[in-house]
Amino acid sequence: MKSTQGKINELLSESGCEHNQHKQTEKKNKSCTQQAQPGAAQGGCAFDGAMIALVPIADAAHLVHGPIACAGNSWGSRGSLSSGPQLYKMGFTTDLGENDVIFGGEKKLYKAILEIKERYQPAAVFVYATCVTALIGDDIDAVCKAAAEKIGIPVVPVIAPGFIGSKNLGNRFGGEALLEYVVGTAEPEHTTPYDINLIGEYNIAGEMWGVTPLLEKLGIRILSKITGDARYDEIRYAHRAKLNVMICSRALLNMARKMEERYNIPYIEESFYGIDDMNRCLRNIAAKLGDSEALASHRASPDLQERTEKLIADETAALDLALAPYRARLKGKRVVLYTGGVKSWSIISAAKDLGIEVVATSTRKSTEEDKAKIKKLIGNDGIMLEKGNAQELLQLVKDTRADMLIAGGRNQYTALKARIPFLDINQERHHPYAGYVGMIEMARELYEALYSPIWEQIRKPAPWDSEALASHRASEEVV
Ligand code: SF4
Repeated sequence: MKSTQGKINELLSESGCEHNQHKQTEKKNKSCTQQAQPGAAQGGCAFDGAMIALVPIADAAHLVHGPIACAGNSWGSRGSLSSGPQLYKMGFTTDLGENDVIFGGEKKLYKAILEIKERYQPAAVFVYATCVTALIGDDIDAVCKAAAEKIGIPVVPVIAPGFIGSKNLGNRFGGEALLEYVVGTAEPEHTTPYDINLIGEYNIAGEMWGVTPLLEKLGIRILSKITGDARYDEIRYAHRAKLNVMICSRALLNMARKMEERYNIPYIEESFYGIDDMNRCLRNIAAKLGDSEALASHRASPDLQERTEKLIADETAALDLALAPYRARLKGKRVVLYTGGVKSWSIISAAKDLGIEVVATSTRKSTEEDKAKIKKLIGNDGIMLEKGNAQELLQLVKDTRADMLIAGGRNQYTALKARIPFLDINQERHHPYAGYVGMIEMARELYEALYSPIWEQIRKPAPWDSEALASHRASEEVV
């Protein structure tokens, strides 16, 4: 798969994305296909995005063909968990040096793939291009093909060098690699009318494990996880699912849309965060599967919907009991949310379920649809922040009299230095917030952050300041 300008334009102007749908014909795709500007890779380049999308495939080896810094830059930055193999966590790189840049790195790549097979026996090897190997013109496709023939396991080239654009574009290239080389290359042992794929769920901090038991209870089988806690083989037979469920991510929209075109698998977009969204997600899956089963068997299939309603009633009743003590302490608290994409609204929904008011949120990387949802959730008084640096964030917290900041890990020290309670919500987090159990976890984390005794301690004036103030006042009284 080549990252030609045509391919880049095609992925940037994804027809399933409402950025494009809402534009007039003559202006369609114009801004989306603009060349990446300097600094566009800040926060993750295309190579990084492709790795984010594919590295959670746990039994595969992920080999970065480039200088060591590219691998170091992206390694271990996501908290995707695996219930089995840990090979995906190992950082493999061809570690190109000056000589390789001059003479080419193809031989080194070929040897590296063979060595990985010899030493680690992976289910497959994913080979990632980087800026350097793209610029020196290594034919990664050809090397992967030759190596696959030699070692007898799939070797998948992922050609998304950093300079072609943003992290989101890289995600889509990751999806393209799966579509081109993996999906449809094997058949499952059996299929059921209740087989679904999860797309764009990366099992950060084990979040998916809070939801899969619910689906199992309903008799819904996750045929392929794309890609959180995935095994290579399950993605090969993803084309046999009855429904694709895209979770909190439009990044792999191209994959869902193309699977609909190629394999006639419908897709829905859902969120696992918050009680309402989780309820809606289960209902929508049940409705879609019920519809397809009914169509297949020419009869109505209300059973699944009924079981879903019962499950939702049982789970929410138990959740209400578990959340009651937290809700009592969290009610009326005000927070500023600074995150990106769909989390901007899905977390607002979860916060509202706990009685917390989100007074401002960022709309970074949010689509028009995301922004409309945010507007509906935070109302006219809520502030929507397009971009913000540390200073602006702190000013916003002050102006809105917010009690805490919920943001990504890199804002942690901004908040803590300003003595503001903080909750990490991005991919580096260590706590799962998805599903009903995730709500309890989130409530506990919010409670602990807000009511930590440390705030009382550190908000007191320093002893030397108190003494100076006291003596200053005493001298004023004497005068
Ligand atoms: S792929 Fe390019 S932009 Fe990305 S980390 Fe490597 S050198 Fe930097």
